Amino acid sequence: MLEKTIVLKNASVYGEDQIIRQGTITILKGKIKDFGHDVHLGDKEAEVIELPETYHIVPGMIDVHIHGAAGADTMDATFEALETIAKILPQEGTTSFLATTMTQEQSKIEKALENAGLFIEAGQVEGTAETLGIHLEGPFISEKRAGAQPVGAIIKPDLELFKQLQELASGHIKLVTIAPEIEGSLDVISYLREKNVVASIGHSDATYEEVVKGMKAGASHVTHLYNGMRGLHHREPGVVGAALLHDELTTELIADGIHVRPELISLTFKQKGNEKVVLVTDAMRAKCLGDGQYDLGGQEVTVQKETATLKDGTLAGSIIKMNTAVKNMMQFTGCSISDIIQMTSANPAKELNIFDRKGSLAPGKDADIVVLDEDFEVVMTFCKGKIAYRRDDEA
Ligand SMILES: [Zn+2]
Repeated sequence: MLEKTIVLKNASVYGEDQIIRQGTITILKGKIKDFGHDVHLGDKEAEVIELPETYHIVPGMIDVHIHGAAGADTMDATFEALETIAKILPQEGTTSFLATTMTQEQSKIEKALENAGLFIEAGQVEGTAETLGIHLEGPFISEKRAGAQPVGAIIKPDLELFKQLQELASGHIKLVTIAPEIEGSLDVISYLREKNVVASIGHSDATYEEVVKGMKAGASHVTHLYNGMRGLHHREPGVVGAALLHDELTTELIADGIHVRPELISLTFKQKGNEKVVLVTDAMRAKCLGDGQYDLGGQEVTVQKETATLKDGTLAGSIIKMNTAVKNMMQFTGCSISDIIQMTSANPAKELNIFDRKGSLAPGKDADIVVLDEDFEVVMTFCKGKIAYRRDDEA
C-alpha cells in the first residue's frame, strides 16, 4: 500500500542550525522527508495538518533515565509494563527512552533485564515510544549514597557479573550507573567504554580524585547531578565539583525544582552549557496517576504534591513529565528552545551513538516529532512518523 505523505504546516520548525518560522515539515515512511519554507509536496494525496504560527515543531525527546509511568515499572519485568510506558510517554513529548532498572535482589534485576531485552528484540510497537535500550541503575553503587535504592541489594562491582547481566539483556544495556570509588569498578568502567556502553557516575561517594580515575577509565556521564552523590566542598570538590569542572562529563538533571533548587539548575547550565546537560525525569510508576501510595523497588513510596518520598523522607524518583521539565528549565535558566532541544534530544542521541537517526530534525532521520503549543504543552507527537499522541482539542 502506498503511504501518504504527512505535512505539518505553518508553525516554527527547529532544524539543527536554523529556525524556520511558518515552516513546513514533511514525513514519509517513518522518516523526515524534508523541511523548509516552500517544500515541494509532490504528492496530491498528502495529509496536511495546518498549525497555528505560534506552535513549535521540535525533535522527539529522549529520556535516558526513566523507571516507569502510569502504574508500570521496568522492574515489573513484563511486556505489558514496558508497553504501558512506551504508550504513555508520547503524551509528554518523549519518543524514545532507556528503560531503567533499579537496585533490587539480583534475581529481580535479572528478570527485568531479560524481559526488557526480549521486549526490545520484539521490535517497537507502532505509534509508541521506542525503547532504545536499558539503563542499569545499580547494583554497583555506594551504600553511603544509595538514596532510594535499597542498601541490602547493593553488589560489589564485578565484571564477570556485568557480562552475565548484559547477556541476559540480549546486549541492550546502554548506560550503567556505577560508583567509581568501589573496588572492581574501574575494570567494569573500562569494559563499558570498550563496548560503547555509557558509564555514568552516580549513587557515589567518590572524592574528586576518585571521579578523575573513573573518568580516565572511561566514565563520561553523571547520573542525576547533585542527587545521590558526594556534594561540593571547597577543599573536597567531590562528584559534584568534578562534574561541574570537567567537559568530559555530561550531567543528567532532574528539573522538577524539588530534586535540585532552581538556582543550582541555573548555575549548572551556566557552567556546563547546552551541550553537556541532559534532562531526565527519573520518573517512577506514579507518574500520570496523582497522589497516593506506590511501590518503588519493594519499598513503599508516598506521592504528595508532586513529590515522591520513602517513609524516612528520602526522595524516591520523580513524577515529572518531560515537557514540564522543559518549561521549568526555561524558567529557571532563561535558556532558548534551541538550548532545550540540545538537552532533551541531541545530547542523549549523541551519547547513545544514534545521532545519525535521532536527536534532531533533519531529512532522512526517524520522524520522531513533537508539536508544542505556545505554553509548551504537547499538542501532538509522532513516533517514526506514526501519530502516537494527539491532544483532544486538536483531533
Ligand atoms: Zn533512577
